[in-house]
Amino acid sequence: MRSISLFLLIAVAMLLSPNYANANILYSDGPYLIEQNKQLQRYDISDNQLTVSPYAGGLGEVSHFNVAVSDTYKGVAKIAAISDIHGQVDIFKALLKNNGVIDDALNWRWGKGHLVITGDIFDRGDTVTEALWLVFKLEQQAKAAGGKLHYLLGNHEYMVLRGDERYIHDKYKQTLGVMKMDLKTLFNEYTTLGQWLRSKSTVIKINEYVFMHGGIHQDFLDLGLSLEHANAMFRQTIGQSKKMLKAGPYTKILYGRTGPIWYRGYFKEGELTEQDVDSLLKQLEVKHIVVGHTSQQQVETRFNGKVIAIDTSIKNAVKGELLIIERNKSAKDTLTRGQMDGKQLAL
Ligand code: ZN
Repeated sequence: MRSISLFLLIAVAMLLSPNYANANILYSDGPYLIEQNKQLQRYDISDNQLTVSPYAGGLGEVSHFNVAVSDTYKGVAKIAAISDIHGQVDIFKALLKNNGVIDDALNWRWGKGHLVITGDIFDRGDTVTEALWLVFKLEQQAKAAGGKLHYLLGNHEYMVLRGDERYIHDKYKQTLGVMKMDLKTLFNEYTTLGQWLRSKSTVIKINEYVFMHGGIHQDFLDLGLSLEHANAMFRQTIGQSKKMLKAGPYTKILYGRTGPIWYRGYFKEGELTEQDVDSLLKQLEVKHIVVGHTSQQQVETRFNGKVIAIDTSIKNAVKGELLIIERNKSAKDTLTRGQMDGKQLAL
């Protein structure tokens, strides 16, 4: 009896401990670049063993990340968009490679095209770090080629940046244990990835499309903010506690259930009419709203193509899709669903 209760006690303690990870599984992770005493240190974990060394170059430009001057882009001939990668770097790579966005060596080949990632690279899966560094590299290559990669932040990015460890894979619990850090510290403003994430936008417009993780509700428009102003307010409040966010008249909406990173109303039966969606589009001065966050089996549309849903359940670690928008000479768009094998089906 006593041994059973002891066992239960240990089991409960293990479940409750946020940093519990199975030390028998060998994990490799990194790199993480962290500034210490004004010197950038590189942390690598190989089979649960940590190596720390002064950063000796590589990985591209690792500081001074610029914030976009404008969050509106016009005249873009081709756009690829993907969402909710959730730590599944292999699916992410396959979709980009087989649809011509990157080459076999994982380098940018989308030219002057734009790639939009509408948030939630973090959480659930075990290749988050790999996905982040791939995006980090591609963003710099895109810029050099005259194209652009937009990594928009989703609710899981904001959760990680305020230290919410509930959805991280066991591998990252092990990382935190080995590095003796909490999640908030691992991505704070003294880290390269943390600084980089803090330079990102949350809502952008390209041509006739507005992109964000969750969706746009009238509550957001009623704040009367320009996209640049809304994105700046998000940046200024990254990492704040839920309590603080709820207390602010703007942040209450921005981070709330009807805000751009959490809203799911387009997919709730009877919540909106098509006229409501038309009104949102008119105020935003676009023709389509492209969102992730609410999982579908494929790229889908709602409200006669006005809302395009691109969270294709990559989190299930089986497959996913990429939205491709190509504009012809008479400014007419063709929308396709890029498949894992590179087949492109009409949307
Ligand atoms: Zn989400």
